[in-house]
Amino acid sequence: MDRGSLFHEMLELHYNSIIEGKPSNEIILAVTESAREKYRNDEYPDFEMVESCVANYQAYAIHYASDGWTPIAVETPFSKVIFEDDKNKIVIEGIIDLIVRNMNGQVYPVDHKTSEKRDYYPTILVNQFFAYVWATETNVFVKNDIGFQKTLGPAERFARPMLNYTPELIAEWREDVIYDGLNLINFIEKGIFPRRKSSCFRCRYRQICESTPDAREWKIKSKYVIGQPYDIYNRSK
Ligand code: SF4
Repeated sequence: MDRGSLFHEMLELHYNSIIEGKPSNEIILAVTESAREKYRNDEYPDFEMVESCVANYQAYAIHYASDGWTPIAVETPFSKVIFEDDKNKIVIEGIIDLIVRNMNGQVYPVDHKTSEKRDYYPTILVNQFFAYVWATETNVFVKNDIGFQKTLGPAERFARPMLNYTPELIAEWREDVIYDGLNLINFIEKGIFPRRKSSCFRCRYRQICESTPDAREWKIKSKYVIGQPYDIYNRSK
């Protein structure tokens, strides 16, 4: 259970409370108390981590108190068919952290990203962001960067870059996804899983692929623990 998970849960409560019409001072107290309660009941046992989230959340809530955002939906799951023919069906699924309407009436999806470093050059070229604008039929996505740098003030730690997506780029992304999806279906049907050696330097399974094929079962048993399957609809668990 990491800092990002706790902060997402805090922002979920924060924006749901705004939708319910609660006053901001009451919201800040309630969200703070909810995080400390999670520490007391051992959901998040790292006291310093919890307190760093509390301090950063309070700074965030004050910094963005007059941001002009009207939250419309929080932690919204979506499941949308991107391709279907007689044989195959490809569905894109996810959970959008937040959908807001800004002061100009523009509606867009938002994704909260906590990190130690601020992303000064955010790119539109992220599958997740494309999927969100495609699913919500918008053309703008906001990356809600929440830094935890101890030496920086809120104005440097927090940023909300607005990324614009043209219909042509979204159409191109859709074609890529369908091509990749049909390829994956083909791999599954044939039981063939070619290794794509594009991100091995940071892959947690690198030790397996670096072993000779006959040693891989042993490597898996000796170096890895099989955990629970990842459940996108219950990501805080
Ligand atoms: S190390 Fe990871 S990224 Fe590289 S081929 Fe193996 S599984 Fe794929």
